[in-house]
Amino acid sequence: MPSTPPGESPLALKRRARRMARVLAERYPDADCELDFQDAYQLLVATVLSAQTTDVRVNGVTPLLFARYPDAAALAGADREELESIIKPTGFYRAKTTSLLGLGAALVERFDGQVPRRLPDLVSLPGVGRKTANVVLGNAFGVPGITVDTHVGRLVRRFGWTDEEDPVKVEHAIGALLPRRDWTQMSHVLIFHGRRTCHARRPACGACPVARLCPSYGVGETQPEAAAALVRTAGRG
Ligand code: SF4
Repeated sequence: MPSTPPGESPLALKRRARRMARVLAERYPDADCELDFQDAYQLLVATVLSAQTTDVRVNGVTPLLFARYPDAAALAGADREELESIIKPTGFYRAKTTSLLGLGAALVERFDGQVPRRLPDLVSLPGVGRKTANVVLGNAFGVPGITVDTHVGRLVRRFGWTDEEDPVKVEHAIGALLPRRDWTQMSHVLIFHGRRTCHARRPACGACPVARLCPSYGVGETQPEAAAALVRTAGRG
């Protein structure tokens, strides 16, 4: 699968990547975080819950969850069974309950109940990996961050931006290609493109705005009408 066009120089790659980024940003002007949240605490909790499920499912449980546990202290003191029953629709609810109880306790004990604004502090919290930390930094605190989820990793390899599989290496590869100020928004744009057009199984190449710039054109459906039928307008998977 490495698909970097043969002989493409680092400078040509950067130019092509930025051109693709511009085209995709125009295609998805409304790209945004699809989790519903009001503050950093809510986004952190919602992002932890979003592992292995869809944002729609998370958004279905968070209104009740945040009404019942409006801050870290309330979460830390939650009754396990009640918490499990609220988050059950998001799957893996026992493990997620353990993470949320630990998260609430750690926020209270080590950060005075507040969500920290530094990556090393965020990743030190139970259930919080680098991806979650970057989502919170970028969307709650305005610190540019690149979120490498399953969509982003797949896309940038198809784009020939990198051959790396490791999410941290992918993050650094994207960071070297795109301006820092664009990192957070481009993460949303890439996730939108992955959810709506460049699907894992049947990418809609024939309806793709970056088809001419993508070395993987043809891995999916190229016939325009059939490809257009594959494009989702509001997939949040
Ligand atoms: S051309 Fe195909 S593989 Fe390339 S980005 Fe578009 S949908 Fe994905």
